Amino acid sequence: MERFDVLVAGAGASGMCAAVAAAREGARVLLVEKTGLLGGSNTQSLVCPLMGFHAGGQQVVRGLAQEIVERLREKEGTLGHIPDPLGVAETITPIEPETLREVYFDLLREEKGISPLLHTLVMEAHVEDGRIQGITMAGKAGKTEARASVYIDATGDGDLAAASGVPFTQGRPSDGAAQPMTLLMKLGGVDLEKVRSFMRRSPSQFVLRDDWDTMPYIAVSGFFEKVEQARARGELTLPRDRVLFFQGVREGEVIVNMGRVIQCRSTDAMDMTRAEMEGRRQVREILNFLKNHVDGFEASFLVETGATIGVRESRHFRGLYTLQAEDVLRGAMFDDAVAMCGFPMDIHDPLGKDLAWTQMTQWQGYDIPYRVMVPETLENLLVTGRCVSATHEAAASARITPTAMALGEAAGIAAALSKETRVQDMDTGLLRERIRTWGGIPGRESLPR
Ligand SMILES: Cc1cc2nc3c(=O)[nH]c(=O)nc-3n(C[C@H](O)[C@H](O)[C@H](O)COP(=O)(O)OP(=O)(O)OC[C@H]3O[C@@H](n4cnc5c(N)ncnc54)[C@H](O)[C@@H]3O)c2cc1C
Repeated sequence: MERFDVLVAGAGASGMCAAVAAAREGARVLLVEKTGLLGGSNTQSLVCPLMGFHAGGQQVVRGLAQEIVERLREKEGTLGHIPDPLGVAETITPIEPETLREVYFDLLREEKGISPLLHTLVMEAHVEDGRIQGITMAGKAGKTEARASVYIDATGDGDLAAASGVPFTQGRPSDGAAQPMTLLMKLGGVDLEKVRSFMRRSPSQFVLRDDWDTMPYIAVSGFFEKVEQARARGELTLPRDRVLFFQGVREGEVIVNMGRVIQCRSTDAMDMTRAEMEGRRQVREILNFLKNHVDGFEASFLVETGATIGVRESRHFRGLYTLQAEDVLRGAMFDDAVAMCGFPMDIHDPLGKDLAWTQMTQWQGYDIPYRVMVPETLENLLVTGRCVSATHEAAASARITPTAMALGEAAGIAAALSKETRVQDMDTGLLRERIRTWGGIPGRESLPR
């Protein structure tokens, strides 16, 4: 295979943005993805809505992420940015995962600088003199090698960085347990007016903004009593304290984010097998519960489940800087900021049924510095998306899709600019300028005052 300027491992939200940004900066890009889909957890596992585009009354993520929303809008695959009725984020952006799949393939067809390679797993890295010299990939035909000047790990789990020997932690520091996994599902035939009417009668059973009932869109975090009763009867055995679902883009559809599989590592195939089996068992349990006990779901039906279970957390790399909970809470600003996040910390209990999110008031979001993507040791590797250098708590915020996209865009531009240099020597002033030129927001300082 020819030598590329940039090799992106993983074509999820972050990897897609990285590949497109690098190509638009003139780099020849090899994009390697282990499945046949582009878009990662949003398209493989039905993760939606997108959350955290806004904070403090301003849009804090733009650039390629916003372009993707516009492309979805043209195909009627999103309702756009709308207020979050739960009040967790300032806005949410409901999307149709099937349309997102199409949008990513459109992008790939248009970007002539990207050579895509699907159904190929990035396996090994050959490191010499502090640089990745090449990687080994696996496909049906066996092993192949590829080489590039700069590598971007956008695998979510950080497979390439791990194979390159970059130090990492996994899960939370106390016991290594990671946030639970969830197999999401889409249901149709839901009577949302009936759901709304129940919510009006029993508001204490829900987490809601005060003005939720003035909004045309519905999201539900609650039915606490019904869940507790079903658990007591033994009808619900999964470790979860509530029903969580979001109205979909199409009439009568909802995305249910209620399943919970705990104590599994996404980097262990045996654990992942157990997680997929348990996730699928839970689907039927949840369906029966909703149909039998939740107003509005009597005539509902299963449209689809995620092709794979959704993984919230796995490896966290040690970068030149590690994002801290404190940075999220105080709305940190950094001189080398390359992206922003408008989503609070949202920790699904790694061992139990609870959910803890930090209610943020008067919060304007926070900056993410370039250094969280730069490993200490290697000169030509950037890590982006879900597995950047962040603590368990900070990652519970920064893992959100719009921010993964913004980080990917920054990583792609940085890689294209680092073809001849070390990623540690990046001129972050120039990088921030390029992000702005492409319509992105490299930190709070760039927001209109
Ligand atoms: C259950 C759940 C609910 C969530 N809810 C929300 C929500 O409501 N709103 C929101 O905005 N975010 C939500 N998130 C978070 C969000 O989905 C992700 O954290 C974010 O999209 C991560 O994007 P990514 O590109 O970093 O990783 P991923 O989406 O995981 O993409 C990684 C890509 O790399 C590929 N890959 C992996 N390993 C290899 C390899 N070795 N070789 C080649 N390819 C590889 C994968 O197939 C995939 O395509 C949720 C996540 C989960 C799991």
